[in-house]
Amino acid sequence: MAQDKWIERGKNVIMNTYNRFPITLSDGEGVYLKDIDGKKYLDFVSGIAVNSLGYKNQTLINALYNQMKNLIHCSNLYWNIPNIEAAEILIKNSIFDKVFFCNSGAEAVESAIKLARKYGKKFHGEDCYEIITMKQSFHGRTMGAITATGQSKYQKDLNPLLDGILYAEYNNFESVKKIISNKTCAILLEPIQGEGGIRPADKEFLKNIRELCDEKNILLMYDEVQCGIGRTGYLFAYEAYEVFPDVICLAKGLGGGFPIGAMMANKKCSSVFQPGDHASTFGGNPAACTAAKIVLNTLINDNILKNVKEQGKYLREKLLNLKEKFNIIIDVRGIGLMQGIELSIPIGDIIKSCIEKGLLLVGAGSNVIRFVPPLIIKENEINEAIDILEEVLKGV
Ligand SMILES: *Cc1c(COP(=O)(O)O)cnc(C)c1O
Repeated sequence: MAQDKWIERGKNVIMNTYNRFPITLSDGEGVYLKDIDGKKYLDFVSGIAVNSLGYKNQTLINALYNQMKNLIHCSNLYWNIPNIEAAEILIKNSIFDKVFFCNSGAEAVESAIKLARKYGKKFHGEDCYEIITMKQSFHGRTMGAITATGQSKYQKDLNPLLDGILYAEYNNFESVKKIISNKTCAILLEPIQGEGGIRPADKEFLKNIRELCDEKNILLMYDEVQCGIGRTGYLFAYEAYEVFPDVICLAKGLGGGFPIGAMMANKKCSSVFQPGDHASTFGGNPAACTAAKIVLNTLINDNILKNVKEQGKYLREKLLNLKEKFNIIIDVRGIGLMQGIELSIPIGDIIKSCIEKGLLLVGAGSNVIRFVPPLIIKENEINEAIDILEEVLKGV
């Protein structure tokens, strides 16, 4: 009953922007969470693809503790070592030239939008400012990012939106060609659409867009806020496709639960921002960068990416098995540990029943159930999740 009390208190003071489940969480370990009544949940949400190393990773905790004892924040008016080290790891393990640190996915997207506009104006003139994004995409909740988001349900009542964003059909190259013009400065897309329903891009689509961007000398920008940082079994989703962007947006899993975002750019455009062009008070602070440093080093050095590839394959097989058994499952999609099942019915009650049975799941749109567990998930834990889901599906 303690939970009801807290929920009541929460409803009194927290702005009503989320439909929350009636659970108050207070503890976690490995891939499990606990609520304040002690009920345990197997976590296939990970704070929405955030807690990449699961809970109570001692290396992460110790590094953060030691850093915070010394210095939590200092301005970007000065240098700090975790900031430089985190950037060095990102640059060394990617195709990019420079990093801009911020605090969230939306901020990473905002910085990319600004970089693209400056690039367009610098190389093609004052009228080159349009950005093409995709329908069914999701890029965040700030005014620029929500305009880039190609879903009107997120945009209603917010007009006027940002000028100069055009939407193409995802995986439909003709629809991109139809709206591209010499006003276009960039194309922004998710290599795997997350909120839009776990939809991977076709490799051919990305290749065609890459060629088009090269031809026009404009920027190809990937929003890897959800699908980056190990989710696909590669540090970056572009590695899974071998089609390379000029700009990348990162956040979610980057800090393993600590808030941090990043935008990276290659040599073609990394010097477009000059002092004064963009900034963030908290961006790149030593605490957040320490978290990112540990997450990146762990993913790269501790065989986690191999685990994502193996367990991603295993999870996918299990989901395909379920699809054979239950005809309400009409599709299984995803790469690595970013998987989704599309159902022919609304998913709300299924997710609720799974939570009651101790499995946290989250939807992606109205009829896709998303599976984004911590990247350290093991086979027996996948079995446990599938058993719960199967039991629930049997009752539908
Ligand atoms: C979650 C998400 C964002 C927004 O990230 P915030 O940290 O919530 O601002 C942007 N792009 C994608 C692809 C996302 O999944």
